[in-house]
Amino acid sequence: MKYYDKLIFELSKEGRTGYSLREPQARVCLPEKLARKEAPELPQVSEVDVVRHYTNLSQMNFGVDTGFYPLGSCTMKYNPKINEEIAAMPAFAGVHPLQEDVQGVKEVYEGLDKALAAITGMAHFTFLPCAGAHGELTGLMLMRAYHESRGDHARKKVIVPDSAHGTNPASAAVCGLEVVVVKSKADGLVDVEDLKPLLGDDIAGIMMTNPNTLGLFERDIKEIAKLVHGCGGLLYYDGANMNPLLGVVRPGDMGFDIMHLNLHKTFSTPHGGGGPGSGPVGVCNKLVSLLDSVHTSGFHGNFGVMLRAYTYILMLGKQNLRLAGKLATLNANYIKESLKDAYKLPIASVCKHEFVFDGLIDDGAKEGVQGATTLDVAKRLLDYGFHAPTIYFPMLFHQSLMIEPTETESKETLDGFIEVMHKIAAEAAQDPDILHQAPHNTPIGRPDETLAARQPVLKWEA
Ligand SMILES: *Cc1c(COP(=O)(O)O)cnc(C)c1O
Repeated sequence: MKYYDKLIFELSKEGRTGYSLREPQARVCLPEKLARKEAPELPQVSEVDVVRHYTNLSQMNFGVDTGFYPLGSCTMKYNPKINEEIAAMPAFAGVHPLQEDVQGVKEVYEGLDKALAAITGMAHFTFLPCAGAHGELTGLMLMRAYHESRGDHARKKVIVPDSAHGTNPASAAVCGLEVVVVKSKADGLVDVEDLKPLLGDDIAGIMMTNPNTLGLFERDIKEIAKLVHGCGGLLYYDGANMNPLLGVVRPGDMGFDIMHLNLHKTFSTPHGGGGPGSGPVGVCNKLVSLLDSVHTSGFHGNFGVMLRAYTYILMLGKQNLRLAGKLATLNANYIKESLKDAYKLPIASVCKHEFVFDGLIDDGAKEGVQGATTLDVAKRLLDYGFHAPTIYFPMLFHQSLMIEPTETESKETLDGFIEVMHKIAAEAAQDPDILHQAPHNTPIGRPDETLAARQPVLKWEA
């Protein structure tokens, strides 16, 4: 443990202060009932201790601004700083949420609506939803509103592929719809033959993401759209990670009727630690009139995220947005091909923006020696200064290691990551214990992850 890994309370020294004030010339007396009875229990430290405390804390955090962050299904791309400058402009940041008619703000909404419609092939967007999952719920409510507007009340089921992001079935359940799972084939794509018998007049629609969570483009999407529309259902598109499709393919052209985007993923807003987000929902022409019927948040959503997205789109322009999509795909395939000699690649086809390994080829397991797992690889990566990829998701494989490099990383960074991943594979083959014990260099090594997520204890107590 480094000296400054100590808590600020442990550095406290009776009587030490970080300020000096002159004897006050006058005093303001607070009413008795508002005044403290005892002094607050603050650590007693000097100014430099406070500065080091916060600076060191900030450096314990791993972010896109500190290093490569290949977290699959999350699109942790670099967020250009000009976005922040625009979002912080007083003319925008100072607008009160109830000021609905500020022309500049309206123009941003209109411009972003047009840009997203052009990128996705949808007719219009609502910007109320504050996250991807929130967008899913909004979209499903629109789906239900559509069926009900036609007097069709029997459609209570939503089809979701077994490879879907966990929020998809959760949103359907929250919306009061029954989830029906459609299987994937061995090649990772939705099994059209498994889909056919599920279709009927009780189906509200299907939720899909394309490329799916394995990073694979659903090539049968046109046929799937025809089948689902044929039974009277709608197609919902989970566009959380639209990186690879930017300027290349549009969900609207694939046959989707409703979709959400994660502006905080694809369109660059820092989104570690749970926010802020924005999950605008787009609809095709026949659903536009229903947009106003579904209100799922107050005011107009997270305007700052929209400003960042709009800035990002305008700064890149049409040609470079298209390039972003292609580079995201190229980078993912480059890593996949460079590491498949050391990591098991269950689906070898060309991927889009992300792909999945299924653990190490040689995990070092021998008589009496336990092999290294995906968790061990992820923990070891932290020692080398890289954030871990997504692990144990998707659940189609036992040792999933899901890597998404994004388009914003240079070839040198990708090569550095590939080198380290090879090094870790060699360590595992030789002495898996190095990996079992990792991470060796972080303040906390291996918390009980379930407990840490469900019952986080974030405050210090003596
Ligand atoms: C991130 C993600 C979501 C959920 O988005 P949130 O903003 O975290 O609610 C949904 N689907 C996919 C595919 C995602 O990657």
